[in-house]
Amino acid sequence: MKLPPPESYQAFYKRSMTEPDAFWSEQAELIEWHKPFSRVCNYDNPPFVHWFEGGQTNLCHNAIDRHLSARGDQAALIHVSSETGLEKTYSFRELHAEVQRMAASLRELGVQKGDRVLIYMPMVAEAAFAMLACARIGAVHCVVFGGFASGSLASRIDDATPKVIVSADAGSRGGKVTPYKPLLDDALRLSSHKPDAVLLTDRGLAPMQLVAGRDRLWSDLRTRHLHAQVPCEWLDSTAISYTIYTSGTTGKPKGVQRDTGGYAVALAASMKHIFDSRAGETYFSTSDIGWVVGHSYIVYGPLIAGMATIMYEGLPTQGMDRQPDGGIWWSLVEKYRVTAMFSAPTAVRVLRKQDPALLQKYDLSSLRALYLAGEPLDEPTGRWIAEGLKVPVIDNYWQTETGWPLLTVANGVEQTPSKFGSPGIPMYGYRVKLLHEGTGEELTGAHEKGVVALEGPTPPGFMQTIWKDDARFVNTYWKSVPGKMVYNTFDWGIRDEDGYFFILGRTDDVINVAGHRMGTREIEESISGHPGVAEVAVVGVADALKGQVAMAFAVPRDASILSDAPAARALEGDIMKRVDGDLGAVARPSRVRFVTGLPKTRSGKLLRRAIQAVCEGRDAGDLTTLDDPAVLQQIRDQLAAG
Ligand code: AMP
Repeated sequence: MKLPPPESYQAFYKRSMTEPDAFWSEQAELIEWHKPFSRVCNYDNPPFVHWFEGGQTNLCHNAIDRHLSARGDQAALIHVSSETGLEKTYSFRELHAEVQRMAASLRELGVQKGDRVLIYMPMVAEAAFAMLACARIGAVHCVVFGGFASGSLASRIDDATPKVIVSADAGSRGGKVTPYKPLLDDALRLSSHKPDAVLLTDRGLAPMQLVAGRDRLWSDLRTRHLHAQVPCEWLDSTAISYTIYTSGTTGKPKGVQRDTGGYAVALAASMKHIFDSRAGETYFSTSDIGWVVGHSYIVYGPLIAGMATIMYEGLPTQGMDRQPDGGIWWSLVEKYRVTAMFSAPTAVRVLRKQDPALLQKYDLSSLRALYLAGEPLDEPTGRWIAEGLKVPVIDNYWQTETGWPLLTVANGVEQTPSKFGSPGIPMYGYRVKLLHEGTGEELTGAHEKGVVALEGPTPPGFMQTIWKDDARFVNTYWKSVPGKMVYNTFDWGIRDEDGYFFILGRTDDVINVAGHRMGTREIEESISGHPGVAEVAVVGVADALKGQVAMAFAVPRDASILSDAPAARALEGDIMKRVDGDLGAVARPSRVRFVTGLPKTRSGKLLRRAIQAVCEGRDAGDLTTLDDPAVLQQIRDQLAAG
């Protein structure tokens, strides 16, 4: 049989725009449906989109059950921890058994279809079992990043109102154990909502005090449900699969809500077209299940594609013997014949400080590409790793909200050259526009700077809404560009003459620390809760390793602190501890500096941009509205003093 000639990416993209129903029906064949859909895209009530209406499917079925006959004994989940030295491979059949045990345990604890299960876990295999088990029984999982502390956790518990929380005794990072259970207990003291039960994995890393009648051990329930058979619940394509919290410009995190069928199709399509991957191969994403990358490309995407997925706990610079080893990831690429690897520029910058010979030490011939996302990829980092690995390094730009890349290259459709500094071109299904921030007018010329926006309908896999808050979804994302109902990414961008986009940073007060998105408002709220602080501003400042770091400028209640260095240091330490306790060490500012006042406009608006510019040694811009110019000078003096 003669195969049809390969389609160019341009034609592929065009089809997704001009014949979206036919295009997405074709992509929908990449997954299994229990009941076929009757309508591809319902966009009757913009900006809400319903994909594959009438269809029924299940994410867990597509990730596990459907592969059992063809590849039941092949590796599915490879869990590696350089923190505990444990390494274990679960075949699709073994994963199927573990997930059914977890599903039966959750059911025993009262979890039913539509109930929320909050997962607060380190990178252990049980976290993936829990996610897949929820998908299996139609429960909505809400994974909260394990690096967050009690305050962040409590607000998420109150928003998600979970029936059950799945957690563990502790996480570990660089050999330092962080007990999770006391953080969870604290969060449950702070939250108004109380779950019926807490299901705990005991890793033997930290002692746990179990609360009678509430806390249960996974090891006990697992034994009871060792032979459990829990069939997949067939869910409407539009049923909620999960929520994941992300930071915005207010202190209240947003629960990004995703569907079932659209997400499954989007991931299956991206594994083929963007990640150019095939069943039986091995995928290694170095992210964490607490982030969207972990959802899409540690757990669901690779498994839906029938691939083995590596779930790694630990630093990129620590060996299985817990000794320093900057080659640990490359040793895993060699050992498991990894074909596609996904990481963040920050991690590569860390690796760049290691011995370059480490890249030559291992056989990396299985690897076809390295995908990097989460923050801008600077050219020196991109070039260093591309030359070291001798495979394409593919920058890809997306957000928690989008669920999968919206700017990159789709080498699975057609080999397309990348350009350093650019994540690439619009992906199929995305109508990407650059708009003038003030007028909303579309910018079509090369190198014009505008807000990156999307015209609806958004493609499958994109967020459905904000959990329990349709109005916030519409107002925050779709009504912020004058005169147009478009989705605002809150990123600045430009496009060159070849149609490649370049991302120039956020238009809002969200910062990106080591690829982790943080709202400066959340950090400010934590700091201003300290009794010694009258007022505070937090800004993101460029950092050579982490991309950005948070820096705080606080006005102390007791002005004598300003001339008392030991007292200032003590207060700084105390504030950092508070942020650690409220939000987690990921949100801790690199420094807290004390000033008599903050730069504000005469109407009282805090000029964070001006502070940021001063911190980065740039021109602070138009300061005609500044109330008291002396305060910026004070910040300059503080920075100069070191
Ligand atoms: P998150 O929702 O945590 O994944 O953060 C999304 C934000 O990270 C985006 O809005 C961008 O500001 C930034 N980002 C993600 N990927 C890239 C990339 N490849 N290049 C530049 N910025 C990126």
